[in-house]
Amino acid sequence: VLRVNRITPHMQRITLEGAGLRDFSIEDPAQWVKVILAPDSDGRSPNRAYTVRRFDPSQGVMEIDFALHRDGGPLSRWAAAATIGDMVEIAGPRAGHRVNPAVASYLLVGDPTSLPAIGAILEALPASITAQVFIEVANSEEEQPLVSAARLELCWLHSHTEAPGTTGQLELTIQSSALDLENCQVFLAGESLMVRAVRTYLLAERALDPSRVDSKGYWKFGAADHRD
Ligand SMILES: Cc1cc2nc3c(=O)[nH]c(=O)nc-3n(C[C@H](O)[C@H](O)[C@H](O)COP(=O)(O)OP(=O)(O)OC[C@H]3O[C@@H](n4cnc5c(N)ncnc54)[C@H](O)[C@@H]3O)c2cc1C
Repeated sequence: VLRVNRITPHMQRITLEGAGLRDFSIEDPAQWVKVILAPDSDGRSPNRAYTVRRFDPSQGVMEIDFALHRDGGPLSRWAAAATIGDMVEIAGPRAGHRVNPAVASYLLVGDPTSLPAIGAILEALPASITAQVFIEVANSEEEQPLVSAARLELCWLHSHTEAPGTTGQLELTIQSSALDLENCQVFLAGESLMVRAVRTYLLAERALDPSRVDSKGYWKFGAADHRD
């Protein structure tokens, strides 16, 4: 661990440095790695998937944004307490989202776990695209500045005391918004049931082509180490 920055009250940006990172090849936004902790007292090494927010291969430096959640599993707890010099293992990288520059618009939907992916995708979009962005966070303090050459239409939703991604607001807002889905690419990630509901709506009710809906459940309410 090279640096630790609390970018919002519940988001810890951790900058990792390691000679092995120089060999990583990151080409697309939303590529992800496994962050592996040192073995616990049972000899198990907790590991979870995290998105590469930024990467500098020449320096072997990688930024990861950890959502700090109330049900604090091992990775959230580790991130909350991380200090400079701590050691983790990184495995990967795995595939992310290949930006489609030919579309007219992007629809990006998620919760704090997909903010790093959405932030990186937005930074990669060209100015010709309109980006419709719907993100649920706990409150206004968790809203992050998002930068893009694309024309941004941002909608932040607040979950207040509930876990962002679990309130049903994203599903309802997507269904009641005047979305422009003509020649549109979707990126949708976050809590698994929310992702499934929004995906089903877009495919079944709005007849989107499945090839235009890049979606993944990143975590599941009540389930540790969920794999979609
Ligand atoms: C491809 C991919 C990329 C991801 N990128 C990121 C990323 O960049 N940043 C990030 O923060 N997360 C990211 N995630 C999600 C992250 O891997 C999970 O949230 C993971 O479960 C956290 O591990 P943990 O040890 O903290 O909790 P776990 O031990 O897995 O779970 C313990 C408890 O906490 C709950 N829980 C887990 N995550 C959350 C949450 N976000 N909010 C509320 N409750 C939760 C579980 O339901 C469970 O009840 C990504 C997941 C995938 C698959």
